[in-house]
Amino acid sequence: MEYMIGMDSGGTKTEAIAYTLKGKELARCQTGFGNLLMDKEKGLSNIEEAITILFDRLGERNCQSVVIGLAGLDSGNFKKELDTYFSRYQPLIVFINDAWLSYYALVKEKDGCLVISGTGSIFIGKYHEETARVGGWGNILGDEGSGYWIAKRMIHHLLLQEDTNKNYCYLSKKLINTLQAKTVFDVVHYFYTHEKDEIAELAKIVAESANLGDEVSIEILKEAGYVLAKQAKLLISKLGFNKEVTIGITGSVLKKNSIVYHAFFENLVQHPLKITFIKDLESNTIGGYYYYKNNILRNEEC
Ligand code: BGC
Repeated sequence: MEYMIGMDSGGTKTEAIAYTLKGKELARCQTGFGNLLMDKEKGLSNIEEAITILFDRLGERNCQSVVIGLAGLDSGNFKKELDTYFSRYQPLIVFINDAWLSYYALVKEKDGCLVISGTGSIFIGKYHEETARVGGWGNILGDEGSGYWIAKRMIHHLLLQEDTNKNYCYLSKKLINTLQAKTVFDVVHYFYTHEKDEIAELAKIVAESANLGDEVSIEILKEAGYVLAKQAKLLISKLGFNKEVTIGITGSVLKKNSIVYHAFFENLVQHPLKITFIKDLESNTIGGYYYYKNNILRNEEC
């Protein structure tokens, strides 16, 4: 049976789903992160592993196309290199930024905006044929409001207490215990010697502490929601929306953390434009299917 593959490859995992040409799911698999900025060799091998698993199951010949939404694609300037590398496969393999894959999944062909806040963060949007982006410059240069950013805030907080000779608060103690650190240097060493996804994973400590009522953690999560809302406002005005706007929301932080989501939401409902949020979708890989139908099939038919 003919099929295509939609793939969502971010800073923590790569999820691939094979769809019939009518958009029905046939098979799925999951491998590790795909962001090549983190580790090029490992990222490439995770992407290829996902492709191989589905090709082995359904046949490479039957596959019409693979559409891969990849985090870090633009920041790393990887598109040309990847197109050449993947041209050895028989089906057409197309790379787009992971945010655009999610955009096609949630907002589809319409005008609107899309935010991801997971391991990293980014805002993109489309209005009257114009596209624009805010953020998404990677963990070192930005990714405000992301899992990585939240974890970094928690570490900053500990370092501030260290610098000012204050007692460690609940969150700092919890971080030290989780990492089985003996001194702050062990925490700093962990930060500089671990991958982006492993650092982002530490945001769970903030989420768990917030659930137990820890004020510092709640504040960090609220702040994440505010900075995300600030970026959304920047993008809305950059694109010139003037009546209403739809915002697709995805990424583990915004989808799963209610404190971040509410701070984001509350900050934006005060906006003079009418904003509609779209959030519930199990997998963004379906965006690859819509991209295939609208951008690849349509062009082939012309
Ligand atoms: C990457 C972007 C990506 C965003 C969301 C950032 O770290 O640089 O390319 O879209 O994370 O995954």
